[in-house]
This record gives sequence, C-alpha cells and structure tokens, in this order.
Amino acid sequence: MNKETNGCCLSHSAHENHDHKERYAKRWIILGVSLVSTALSYIFYALDLYSHTPYAFLDFAWIAIALCGFPILKESFESLKNKKINSSVLIAIALVASVAMGFYGVFAPSYRSHENYFFVAGEIAFLMALGELIEDITMNKSRFAIQKLIALKPTKATLKTENGYKEINIEDIEIGQTVLVRPNETVPVDGILLSESGSFDQASLTGEWQPKDLVKGQAVLASNVNLLSPVEIQATKKSEETVISKLIEYYKEAVRHKAPIAGVADKLSSKLVPIALLTALLVFCLTAGTISVTEGLGRGMAVLVVFCPCALVLATPIAIAASVGNASKKGILIKNGGVLELLPSVNTMVFDKTGTLTSGNLEVDEVVSQGMDKRELTRLAAASEMQSEHPIAKAVIRYYGQTPPYPEKTAIRSGIGVEAVVEDKIVKVMKLSQAENECPQAFDDLKKSLSKPEGATLIAVIVDDKPAGIISLKDTLKKEALPAIEELKSMGYEIVLLTGDNKESAQAVAESLGIEEYHYELMPQDKADLIEQMKAQGRITLMIGDGVNDAPAFAKSGVSLAMAKIGSEIAVETSDISLFNDDLSRLPQLMRLAKRGIFAIKFNIALALAINAITVALSAAGFLNAVWGALLHNLSSVLVALSSALLLTQKSRGKNTLK
Ligand code: AMP
Repeated sequence: MNKETNGCCLSHSAHENHDHKERYAKRWIILGVSLVSTALSYIFYALDLYSHTPYAFLDFAWIAIALCGFPILKESFESLKNKKINSSVLIAIALVASVAMGFYGVFAPSYRSHENYFFVAGEIAFLMALGELIEDITMNKSRFAIQKLIALKPTKATLKTENGYKEINIEDIEIGQTVLVRPNETVPVDGILLSESGSFDQASLTGEWQPKDLVKGQAVLASNVNLLSPVEIQATKKSEETVISKLIEYYKEAVRHKAPIAGVADKLSSKLVPIALLTALLVFCLTAGTISVTEGLGRGMAVLVVFCPCALVLATPIAIAASVGNASKKGILIKNGGVLELLPSVNTMVFDKTGTLTSGNLEVDEVVSQGMDKRELTRLAAASEMQSEHPIAKAVIRYYGQTPPYPEKTAIRSGIGVEAVVEDKIVKVMKLSQAENECPQAFDDLKKSLSKPEGATLIAVIVDDKPAGIISLKDTLKKEALPAIEELKSMGYEIVLLTGDNKESAQAVAESLGIEEYHYELMPQDKADLIEQMKAQGRITLMIGDGVNDAPAFAKSGVSLAMAKIGSEIAVETSDISLFNDDLSRLPQLMRLAKRGIFAIKFNIALALAINAITVALSAAGFLNAVWGALLHNLSSVLVALSSALLLTQKSRGKNTLK
C-alpha cells in the first residue's frame, strides 16, 4: 500500500539513516497511541460508559481513526482520482461505513442494540497501519542488505593536480585524472593502478575476504578498500558509471519493479471491491424480514469489513522484497521480482565453460612454433591480443611477460579469436579448428610436436597466411564446481555444458564434473540457437556464463546469470542475475531461496483468500459480528505479512529442502 519508500535511493548517507530512524519512531508512537485509544474505546463501550453522556459520538477510537485512517482515506482518494480501484479503496469504504454506522448507533433510538462501530473503524485503521510499517521495515532491511554488500560509496576523493593534492567530490572526477587513495581509504572511482603494486579488500563487491594483490596497470574498482601503502589510481570511468553505481541503480530497479505475481493481488483487489459491495447489499436484503434493520445493517457491515484483501496486498511485495534482499546478502543480485518468479520453473541449467565452471585463469602450458622462434611467436601473439578482453588474451600477454608492441589494427572475432596488424605483419590468433579452415597450409607438423595436447585449449597463430605456431593453454576447474553440480543434479536439474572451446577440453571438463550433455566449438550465436532449441523442447533454461560473448545466449534463455567478475560490467548489464562472489555453490542456495519465496507468496495468496471466504461466510450467517470479523481478519493479515517478512532472514544452506 504505502509505496512511498520504493524509489528511495540506496546510497543512504548517515543523515538519511537518521531520518529513517526518526520516521520509524514517529510511526511507532502513532501506532502505540492508536492501540491505547482503540483499547480504551473497547473498554468504555463494554462498561457502558459512553451511553451516559450526550457526547457518545466522541469515542476514543477517533484518535486511531484520525492518526491511522486518514492516510488510508487520502491514498484511496488519490487512486480514485487516477481511476484506479485498489484495496485501499475497499478499506476506505469499510472505514467510512463503520464510522457512519457508529453515528447511526449513537443517534438511533436503539442505541447499544448493536456493536461499537467507531471501535471497528479505529481497529481497521490501526492494523492496516501496522501492516504497512512491517512492509516498510522489510523493504528497508532488504535495501540495507545490499548496502552492506556494496559498502558505502565515498563522497570525496583526493585529486592529484599540478599544484599538489586537492579534495573534490567524486562526481567531479574526470576520466584520465589521477586520484590518491591512502591506506584504509575506499577507492572513489573505477580505474587502473598507477602505483607499482597494491593490496585491496574487495569484500564489499565480491564477498571475498582475501585481500587482492594488484600490480601496476590492473583494474581497481570503486568501493575497494586500500589496505597497505598510499596508491595512485587513474580514473577510467565517471563516478556515475562505476560498477558500484550501476549496482545501486539495478537494485533500486529490482525493488521498484513489480513482479507479475504482485499484479495478481492488485487485480484481485479491484475485482473484490464491487463483489464486496454487492455481497454486503445482498446479505442485508436477504436478511430483511428475518432480523431487524439494525442487525441486517450490522451483518452487511461485517461482510464489507472482512472482504478487504489486506493480506493479499501486504504479503506479496513484502515477500518479493525480502527474498531479493536475502539473495543480495549472499552476493546474488536479482534484477527484479519477475526474475524471482521465473526461477522456480527452471528445469535445465546451461553452463558456459571458461570462467564459469573453470577459474578462467588460463595458463599457457606449451608453445610450439615453425619459421620463427617461440619467443618471437609469443611476442606477435601477445601484441595481437592487446585489445581483447578474453581470458586467453590475458593468459598469452601474461606469459609473454613484457609489454608487447601495440598493434596497428585489431579485429576481434567473437568466439573465434583476433586478427591484428603488428609491425606490418598480419597476425591471426584463433581457435585451431577455425585456423585449419582459413589457412591454406596444414598445422599437422605443429600439432604433432605438442607434447600433451589432451584436454588443453589449443590456439593457432597464423602469420601472413602461414601456420606459425600453436599455443596450448590449461585451465583449472573451480574447486566448488563439482559439489555445486552434484547438488544441482540431486535437486533434479538437467545440466548442460556449452563451450566455444574444442571437443577434447569440453569432454575433459564434462567428464570430471559428471555432465552428460555437452556441446563444443560453438560460436556465440550457436549457443543462443541451442538455447532456443531447448526452449522448443519444453526445457526452461537458466544460462550461467561469465558474460564474455554470452549476451546472445543470455537474451534467449528463460533466465540468465552472470559471474560478475571484477571488471566485467557488461555481464551485469546483460544478465537477469549477477553473482558477485563468483562462487558456484551459491547457485543451489539461489534456487532454494526463489522456490521458498514464490511458494510463500502463493501460499499467502491462498491463505488470504481462504480466510476471507470463511470470515465472509461466518459474517453473512451472523456468527461473526463486525468487531470480531475485523479483528480476526486484520490480525491474520498482519501475521501473513510477518511471515513474508521472515523470508529476509531465512538461511538456505540445507540440502534439497524443497525437492
Ligand atoms: P569463447 O566462446 O569466447 O570461449 O571462444 C571460443 C574459442 O574461440 C576459444 O576457446 C578459443 O579457442 C577461441 N578464441 C576466442 N577468443 C580468442 C582470443 N582472444 N584469442 C585466441 N583465441 C580465442
């Protein structure tokens, strides 16, 4: 109902936190006063104290009606103005009708022949306000959860200028400028390390508590904490473009974006309004003649009060915010509630190989060459790879160990390799199978001279259309890959491996992980086509990749998850879910969490409807008066809201709890 905080910014300053606390304190005081006033209203009425005064309409419940009921009336007025009928309209109708009945009770000659409707109105208003506060607290807790994860963005930075250092706002840092980060200070902007070396705590982004040692030229991200000596960093992004800023944006979007399931509750509410009014009228008409008009009105009122779909309205957004918040505490960023809703229907997990199941830290294992020495071959290959982001490129450059010459021209061929002009030579570094198709001469001799080609990634180097060498690279499996795949299999998921790499290395990885279905030598578009085929077979896929060349497959997959490694912000942008600590063991946890969240939502909707149906039937039959109807109904709503809020704290470590 009260969505006032939904669009609120995540990067709370201490000042904002203080504001929050103050607002909550005010709301708790309002609730306390309202509770006391409704209780007094009940007691005064029970002791028949009101009837002795000519001012009986001045019931204590007015305090609660004014404090808690007024915002509901205002909200329903707003939604009516926008031609929208939602649950607040129904609650407002029940409120106004209760107040009207209260006056009727005071001024009608048959006073005290029916219930205290001022109390009913006060109590509805009080419990709705309590439910809203629970909703707000959960939403904020979810926000704070991610806040903890990404740590607070610094607001100031120390800029290096010709005249020394000067403090500026981080928004004013321009790309290319140099900032100084002292020990224990937070890096203000994404950039590259200019100092020889540095050690950084990246826990806020990755959840990884091991300090990361970086050397000159490596990427550093805003929100990392400098652990050792002062370092200089050259900004490569504006402050609003940094990974952490984008994360904050995505998270705001996740909380703001309504899941389709939330729409169900809204739609039901708008349908319930006319049904509630008609049922109340029907009950009044049908009982005419059998009971007094006052009693008939009372029954109609009771029906109207218990018809409110309060539980429905409160529970769904709370459950979504709580689940998204819980996931973010584990380093999993779910972009919106709709994604959460899709996850439980996934039956096939499609994994990319390099960087996802393997560490992606490829190492050059062997180099063979012909027509030039190995060192020269590596130098030319490293030069051609200068503009590629691929792990293979990084491995080749690292292996060369020096700064290679900068290529004059580079063309990156996604899923194949690179082509570059280096010192007037045309150098192609690409997958062997492709090279064998493109190069007029065979690679047979080079292949034969490799000492251990099994399971390795083999890269061919062609210089001026002649086979010049083969570079063999090895990758290692992530240590958590096997337990994670085994757990996912035991949960009933089908596992598929897709890779652009050769058959041998795909087979080696698939065999070590017990994956039966694997596809190799795939171009990015082939991966997307395979996902499409799986869809046609009725498989609902979750594609898991490291974001390099995965965008087409991500787009086709039911849901996509990126290993959001440091620096791979494209992955964060193109995927539905990002895993910030790169840890595959979070996957089973994520699936359980989503199932629990969506189950809780469906259960809550069913429970809310069942409670409504039963209380409506009891009220229509005269077993439940408006006072008890309202109490029972609203208490159950608050309980449902509370149970949804608990999703925020649920652990999901147990094995296979849902399968
Ligand atoms: P990918 O789908 O990006 O893993 O690429 C599939 C295959 O293409 C890799 O296994 C390599 O054989 C080759 N490849 C892709 N990018 C490069 C690169 N920058 N340098 C050399 N080979 C590459």
